[in-house]
Amino acid sequence: MIGSDTALRFLKGVGPRRAAALAKQGLETVEDLLYVLPFRYEDRRTFARIADLRVGGPETTLGVEVLSSRIIPTRRRGFSVFEARLRDGSGQVRAVWYNQPYLERLFVPGRRAVLFGGASEDRYGSGVILENPDYEFLDDSDTEGVHTGRIVPVYRKLGELSSRMQRTLMYRALSSLDPRTLSERVPLDVARRRKLLDRLEALRRTHFPDADAGLDALRERRTTAQRTLAFEEIFLLQLALVARREAVRAEGRALSYELTDALRTRLGRLLPFKLTAAQRRVLKEIAADLRSPHPMNRLFQGDVGSGKTIVALLTLLVAVENGYQGALMAPTEILAEQHHRVIEGLLRDKGAGYRVDLLTGSLKSAARRRALARAASGETQILIGTHALFEASVEFHKLGLVVVDEQHRFGVLQRAALAGKGPRPDVLVMTATPIPRSLALTLYGDLDLSVLDELPPGRVAIATVVRRESDRAKVYRGLAREVARGRQAYVVVPLVEETENSDLKAATSLARQLRTDVFPELRVGLVHGRLKGPEKDRVMQEFAAGRIHILVATTVIEVGVDVPNASVMVVEHAERFGLSQLHQLRGRVGRGSQRSYCVLMVGDGPMGAQAADRLACMERTHDGFQIAEKDLEIRGPGVVFGTQQHGLTDLQFLGVVLRAPELLEAARSEAQQLAGDPEGGRERARAILESLRPAWKRRLDLARVG
Ligand code: ADP
Ligand code: MG
Repeated sequence: MIGSDTALRFLKGVGPRRAAALAKQGLETVEDLLYVLPFRYEDRRTFARIADLRVGGPETTLGVEVLSSRIIPTRRRGFSVFEARLRDGSGQVRAVWYNQPYLERLFVPGRRAVLFGGASEDRYGSGVILENPDYEFLDDSDTEGVHTGRIVPVYRKLGELSSRMQRTLMYRALSSLDPRTLSERVPLDVARRRKLLDRLEALRRTHFPDADAGLDALRERRTTAQRTLAFEEIFLLQLALVARREAVRAEGRALSYELTDALRTRLGRLLPFKLTAAQRRVLKEIAADLRSPHPMNRLFQGDVGSGKTIVALLTLLVAVENGYQGALMAPTEILAEQHHRVIEGLLRDKGAGYRVDLLTGSLKSAARRRALARAASGETQILIGTHALFEASVEFHKLGLVVVDEQHRFGVLQRAALAGKGPRPDVLVMTATPIPRSLALTLYGDLDLSVLDELPPGRVAIATVVRRESDRAKVYRGLAREVARGRQAYVVVPLVEETENSDLKAATSLARQLRTDVFPELRVGLVHGRLKGPEKDRVMQEFAAGRIHILVATTVIEVGVDVPNASVMVVEHAERFGLSQLHQLRGRVGRGSQRSYCVLMVGDGPMGAQAADRLACMERTHDGFQIAEKDLEIRGPGVVFGTQQHGLTDLQFLGVVLRAPELLEAARSEAQQLAGDPEGGRERARAILESLRPAWKRRLDLARVG
């Protein structure tokens, strides 16, 4: 018998080397391993006969007897072919495995085996051959019925560990685990009330489904076993959220703000435009937070271009007017610089004497030292920056408010780091990702939610079209026409990584070509992530000032950039971009009252179905919610909301929750009931959270803000 916290190296089949490799993936104990769930299932239940094998036919399970086997010599060094001849009642077939010479010891004549695989054409014999089929032996009691003859779990490759190896380990772990060593997660009475399985049973049936399990239900993760695990995950997440919320409540407010009419009038005078009703409503919600006895923890959602920045600025100024410092954090240098430029410019124009400062990674050391000193002394009232704001060397005199812009671009840990500077500041997190309400509750249940659901007046829908290489000349003519009207354009080139030279070359050469061949009379600029900070800033300023007509850019301009005069967005290789990226990019235009255009360029060749689907969606709608839903459907929530960045610590059941809101609701109410119960429930909730393995804790921390 093994326990749930037995170290993996004590599991049969895991030596010290494998254990070290697993530890690298964050897996140390048996329990850690058991929560690596199959990402799909294969139906290997129905047995076929050798005589029925067809080239290109479906993969099938065969029950066979080994006739003979040998290693076939090859001329290529380091390459070996192992061959077995097999038979069943209907005929014979050849199977080969590459680079697995040790199989010779297993496939001994007379031994009975079960294989699973598809047939391909036998180039050296007649008929069909099985290449690298999965196998197991009927006399091998340790693995009997693990890899074949059942619905089989398939795992993502884990470092060196194949899906097959994981399956073997899972099976061993599950069959020798002492159930008494599993500590409490979902309390028994809750499980009973909600008709859930016990934990071990749920894990067992999720990894190795019963023979009569429905394949569709398994694939959609809605079997009782999977729902039990989904419930457990959401339940734990909710417990963590409740605990976090309570911790914040307990803290109470260390800061105090006053929001007098005089202050309102003063701030009102700074406004460059009339606020929309939605902006006013969100400001009211924020103001209520600022006056409440607890720190603010608010998620502020608003589609691209809906006008979040001004709301953030007014909030920051309330803090400043009350004698505190405010910090505004942006995910890119370009956006931080823009915020700095725009906010400073606005305040200067209105003759308001606030001291706004900028801190990014590309400040020279002397300038950086000065900026740090100003922040520490309290001279800086609003500090704008990138993640450079999180660094340990940054100290504030009296930090009262933190605004995080475009939060989907931030790692959780960074956010936590900033919130740790000084007494607990108020936190406002802004995002353009329209998170469905159920998911927002799941992930950000400890946050309050404000939604900016109205665009500033006078916006005209952006005309979105997909164009092929053969249309390029026409696209350029349209671009020239817009520039002739006094407008500006972006041309965005995809970049796999900012360090990828070949892609950078593509951007550079496109810029050169536009500058010298296509638009010799226009000013064409180029901006990408490898430019030095000040250089990047200079180009963006030139563009913002209208001195650059066409800006060739990589995705560094994807989020937040605001140049209302730009009216054309051309996206090169649009098929390579994800939906939310395209939506963000398109959001760079249509920020004024003139008609804007988004041109999605694709090659002349055929395109994948998913890419076509994405582009069609872009042509069809501008609604961020609809686009996000489509994106969720295509990529899944872990990827969309960036909770997958920690690999195995991903929340595994977000997708399930989206499809089954009643499960979320049940888990939420049970968690709240337990954690809110003063008669021992609260202690139990705390004990459950404390007994969690580090990997679980990290997982639950994903959504943490503040
Ligand atoms: P986002 O929500 O994407 O951050 P921004 O705050 O950058 O949007 O605002 C987009 C554009 O709309 C900016 O040019 C901004 O000046 C303008 N804007 C914001 N609110 C209003 C308003 N109430 N009336 C007119 N223009 C506005
Ligand atoms: Mg913005």
